[in-house]
Amino acid sequence: MAIKTRVLIVGGGPVGLGLALELGRLGTECILAEQSDGVVKQPKLGLVSTRTMEFCRRWGTAQEIRDVYPPDFPATQLFVTSLCGYELSRQEYPTFSELPPLETSPERHQRCTQIYLEPILRRAAEAHPSATIRLNTRMTSFHQDENGVMANCEDVNSGEVITIEADYMVGCDGAASIVRGALGIEMEGKLLSHSINVFFKIPELWSHHDKGKAERYLLIGKDGTWGNFTAIDGRELWRLSIAGDENQADMDEFDADAALARGFGTDDLDYEILSVMPWTRLQMVAKSYRRNRVFLAGDAVHCFSPTGGFGGNTGVSDAFNLSWKLAAVLEGWGGPKLLDSYEHERRPIAFRNTGEAAKNFRRQMSAGENPNLLDDTDEGRRQRAEVGELVRSETQNEWETLGVQLGYRYEASPIDIADGTEATPDEFRTYLPSARPGSRAPHAWLAEGHSTLDEFGDGFTLLRFDQSHSIDGLQSAAKDNNVPLKCVDVKDEKIGALYEARFAIIRPDGHVTWRGDALPDDCENLIGKISGFGV
Ligand SMILES: Cc1cc2nc3c(=O)[nH]c(=O)nc-3n(C[C@H](O)[C@H](O)[C@H](O)COP(=O)(O)OP(=O)(O)OC[C@H]3O[C@@H](n4cnc5c(N)ncnc54)[C@H](O)[C@@H]3O)c2cc1C
Repeated sequence: MAIKTRVLIVGGGPVGLGLALELGRLGTECILAEQSDGVVKQPKLGLVSTRTMEFCRRWGTAQEIRDVYPPDFPATQLFVTSLCGYELSRQEYPTFSELPPLETSPERHQRCTQIYLEPILRRAAEAHPSATIRLNTRMTSFHQDENGVMANCEDVNSGEVITIEADYMVGCDGAASIVRGALGIEMEGKLLSHSINVFFKIPELWSHHDKGKAERYLLIGKDGTWGNFTAIDGRELWRLSIAGDENQADMDEFDADAALARGFGTDDLDYEILSVMPWTRLQMVAKSYRRNRVFLAGDAVHCFSPTGGFGGNTGVSDAFNLSWKLAAVLEGWGGPKLLDSYEHERRPIAFRNTGEAAKNFRRQMSAGENPNLLDDTDEGRRQRAEVGELVRSETQNEWETLGVQLGYRYEASPIDIADGTEATPDEFRTYLPSARPGSRAPHAWLAEGHSTLDEFGDGFTLLRFDQSHSIDGLQSAAKDNNVPLKCVDVKDEKIGALYEARFAIIRPDGHVTWRGDALPDDCENLIGKISGFGV
């Protein structure tokens, strides 16, 4: 069988699905080939960031995601020697239903395990006639020339060979990416540890100990932090993650029951082990995100320590960045610089975010050795209090990450026009809104329930804060070049002050590309640059 499409997406994890969804929403024909049957056996991603929720708002999936996790489950982080052992300290956080809305976003982060997230994204993508999802379809080899990409896929059930011809291909095929391998693109960075996940089921785990409900129980022994229990669905699914070290564990020797008993502090509990997965904790970024017509996104180009929940969210932002550029080039109004800007913009964000995730891992491991930690003595009590306070304060950066989620910006992008202003500090814990070109355009309510962000997505959006100025020149330049541009008049002065300009042009992915108090004399040049035809 031979099929033609505009974009072939290899891999239907959160990143491939996000790309299919946004391309589908934009009406760009694409096929996603996923080798599995779509059932997630080992959920990894649990935290859906505020930025990803903003994308989900655009995709119409935000409410479905909000409905997954129990709203009355606390986000508290507990530091214990075991569930039935000593509590060292706690960092209390409210439940989702208690959290006030954010001032800086119409959404807020959520917990939604990959088990539920992927089917939600898949259904939403399939609802777009231009997006086709093919499960049980493995991409086995490909080649490209100046006209397109030809990929050989196989139906993993029937063995049938399917040839897919596409204008572009995007490898969203995870950390072991065969697309990246075939392109000969190397990763740079380092190994942090060899870890193991035990995914298990135990209803109402909190009723078996006296520590109360928590999103995570960090497990600290005499030799330091060795693992954590993380709530997966807030009901009965849990994951024990064993931090590990640079030595690879012998999985034939690994005793998951013994590890669970150590974490519980008792071997008296009934549970069901659903899967055990060894994995490698890396801090790595690919040396390149593209070879000609083949792009890479997500874990295929960056591998994270999961500490902070940044990996999948960073990957979904890759997909969001790339989708409108591919669509624009295929529609003929986007120039080559759009595609060049993908790596230029996204690779530095991978370094930024993998770096912070690795620091979070070190913060988790800060307990060090405390030989008397488990003793019922004054020295034991002293060590428990000291270690508890140390790890609690060190790890706060891991739980409070709004700056990581919303504060990333594209510096010196070939398609944005710098305005000469100083960058705001890139704080990881808190987010400081900024409309400096390259930044995510700030949120403000234009009307009840209607955010500035809801205006972005289809072509460029001109926010006009001063209606006394004509925009005819800009509109004609956009029209002459077939560049989609709409104007939104904003009369609220507070929003104008937030954007610090009389005009701002926002890209389809919600980043400011230009702002100023007057339109330039040469609007052709401005439109040419932001649509990727500039010099
Ligand atoms: C313990 C743990 C916890 C984590 N928690 C979080 C979190 O809370 N938040 C977060 O953002 N991230 C988290 N992550 C990271 C997150 O899981 C990954 O970053 C994310 O899954 C990457 O998505 P992806 O789509 O790039 O790759 P993957 O999820 O690996 O998906 C790749 C897909 O490609 C398919 N595939 C591979 N090869 C082929 C082929 N040849 N043909 C067709 N299909 C193919 C695979 O079957 C797979 O479905 C966590 C990771 C771990 C280990």
